[in-house]
Amino acid sequence: MKKNEIGRRGFLKRTTAAGAILAGTSGLESLSFAQGGSAVARVPMKELGTTGVKIPVLGMGGSQKFDARYDRRLHRAFQIGITYFDSSERYSNGQSHRTLATFFEQVERKNVWITSKVSSETHPARNDAPPEHFKNNVDKVLNELKTDYLDMFFMHGIDDTRFLEPEFIKMSEELKKSKKINFFGFSCHGGNLPALLEKAAQAGGIDAIMFRYSFRTYGDAALNRAIDAAKEAGIGLLAMKTMGAIAEDDERILNFQSQNFTLPQAKLKTIWADDRIDCCVSEMENIQMVQENSAAALSTDPLAMEEFHQLNRLAAQTAGQHCLGCRHLCESKVDRELKIADTLRYLMYHQAYGKHELARECFGRMSPEDRDFERVDLEAAMAACPQGIRLDQKLAEASRILGEKGPSKV
Ligand code: SF4
Repeated sequence: MKKNEIGRRGFLKRTTAAGAILAGTSGLESLSFAQGGSAVARVPMKELGTTGVKIPVLGMGGSQKFDARYDRRLHRAFQIGITYFDSSERYSNGQSHRTLATFFEQVERKNVWITSKVSSETHPARNDAPPEHFKNNVDKVLNELKTDYLDMFFMHGIDDTRFLEPEFIKMSEELKKSKKINFFGFSCHGGNLPALLEKAAQAGGIDAIMFRYSFRTYGDAALNRAIDAAKEAGIGLLAMKTMGAIAEDDERILNFQSQNFTLPQAKLKTIWADDRIDCCVSEMENIQMVQENSAAALSTDPLAMEEFHQLNRLAAQTAGQHCLGCRHLCESKVDRELKIADTLRYLMYHQAYGKHELARECFGRMSPEDRDFERVDLEAAMAACPQGIRLDQKLAEASRILGEKGPSKV
């Protein structure tokens, strides 16, 4: 490690000091008092679109395992103002709701903002799922979370603009009328993201969108125009997959240097530097990550231009390792159905997040045709890929690692 690179251990020292300083700094949204009376700085709040409701600029992602009895990490996050909790019927093999429900009881429902989602993938017609599919599953979600209402309900991971047709908006209005949800929107991992954001801006009835956004797509002109349109329409914007993750070894290509921030903190700061974004939803897998991310949210130091440049260099040098999910570009170039973007996402779960079981499970859930990459001509798809990903190599790697013949434990 170079002289001025901050390792995770060094960071902890700095954030403890920063926390003490910040607790005495004016201009913070609020302070709370931990047991014993010492003031605790809380993550700043921001209005979500034009909902009139403020949420913390940092939210807790729910696609991870929690301790169903008492999760210290969730309580620590709550104590420092991370009161936004994101979940889905599908996360953690369907266990996310049940484990979070205990925590919500412990801190009291009224003190947290709960977002959950239902996916079209759990309907046999998948991308042709009707509005009733989402509506009918809300009761199940509420039961599992042991709550009467959701602050926000999302259609999960949509990549088709048909889900923004009037019948889906009407379905959300009925749910709002029944008081089962307060706000409505969707999440998307990729697909034609600019088209989805623009359609949402025109459609009306969408309160918020959670979408993939990181330093890797910061300068994308079409995406920026679409974000502008969504913002202008008053839609709340939540960023996810903000780390632009690749395998840790590949990331070391850049020896990130900063006096103020770790690399994950710098990645978050680039998103917060974009004031169109209301919240970063982040999976914080341990207390250290909660501390690290919240220290970045609390820090009033902006990211220096040199730090931006370093992230730009990292994005350029590792583009070929990171899929942006823009499936309409590559999948339309092969002569049959093939799940290229999904496969690369599952490979990322395995290589960058260390979620080996989940990656294999998701890959195994795809139909054999969708993941049969052998003897498929991928030349045109590779030529269309803005990231220059060697699809022939990456898809073969995914089949080897995640397929039936792959190792069960890595
Ligand atoms: S492989 Fe390339 S074109 Fe296809 S989804 Fe990923 S980044 Fe987009």
